[in-house]
Amino acid sequence: TEASFSGTADYKVKAISAKKEKWFVEAAFPGIRRCKKDTFRVEKEIFAGRTKYQKIYIFESLGFGKMLALDGIIQFSQSDEFIYHEIIAHVPLMTHPDPKRLLVVGGGDGGVLREARKHPLKEMSLVDIDEEVVGMARKYLPFVSQGSFTDKRLTLAFQDGRKFIKAHKNHFDIIVVDSTDPVGPGKALFQGDFYKSVHEALTEDGIAIFQLGPFLDFDIIIRGTVVKLSKLFTYLNPVRLPMPSYSCGCEYCFLMASKKVDPAKLALPVLKRRLQQRLGAKAADLKYYSPEMHLASLVTPKIWRLKKR
Ligand code: SAM
Repeated sequence: TEASFSGTADYKVKAISAKKEKWFVEAAFPGIRRCKKDTFRVEKEIFAGRTKYQKIYIFESLGFGKMLALDGIIQFSQSDEFIYHEIIAHVPLMTHPDPKRLLVVGGGDGGVLREARKHPLKEMSLVDIDEEVVGMARKYLPFVSQGSFTDKRLTLAFQDGRKFIKAHKNHFDIIVVDSTDPVGPGKALFQGDFYKSVHEALTEDGIAIFQLGPFLDFDIIIRGTVVKLSKLFTYLNPVRLPMPSYSCGCEYCFLMASKKVDPAKLALPVLKRRLQQRLGAKAADLKYYSPEMHLASLVTPKIWRLKKR
């Protein structure tokens, strides 16, 4: 087996540690996450500081490229953010028959906007509690938003997403909750009253998607969220994707909640036609999302299937 790993990983690791390079050790979720701690070799520190709401650490890693950590938790890496952002944006947008108004809650790095603006939307809104995250991401990580913050269709608000959403009723076709994890300022976005406001802010055939956690935490994070959301929405679907840079490096779960449209009933030809009609030539630039991957992301192993209600 050693021959297939030429140079052997062990040898390299020893040489690296002998030079005393810096390693970023990801913070663990206090008492919630039960997986390993991930470490990333820091090639270059880009920014380290604290905003009013959270600690920010931006660095260039060996292998994953530029990375953003908030309160010690990795938010994305340059090498795999396209998987996360393409899936969280295009799966709900493509499920909806005619989306015109979109809201992103969180998402201050601009990655969801970058993907969503490829659709012929009329209005886009983004509310992030932390203006400094948006500023830092635009300055140091512009490859994520790629100019999305200057899109003429965009309304930008800096306040708690929970408060913002309460002021909107029956307005958005799609709501993407791209929050931090349920600790710190993100905690408010995992609670029952926020889910109720999301439901009320959506139009009658509206669809929401929530970033949740690794499937390894199915019983801890996913099941509890399903219980809360199932009181409000007709259809709930876990959306599966790989996230190599996240804790566990395992399969990650978003949860899609739909009022009227059953995502499981969408056929491949419908998705193919929609993609062509809505994105046109821009569809060729997608790196992960395709109608086939859309349907694949809705398939889960038996152990993670939600029970029919
Ligand atoms: N992809 C990421 C992940 O899960 O690792 C999430 C990315 S995004 C950077 C998370 C954003 O949510 C941050 O910019 C943070 O400021 C914002 N956020 C956290 N709590 C919030 C709240 N209560 N209201 C609005 N935005 C919030």
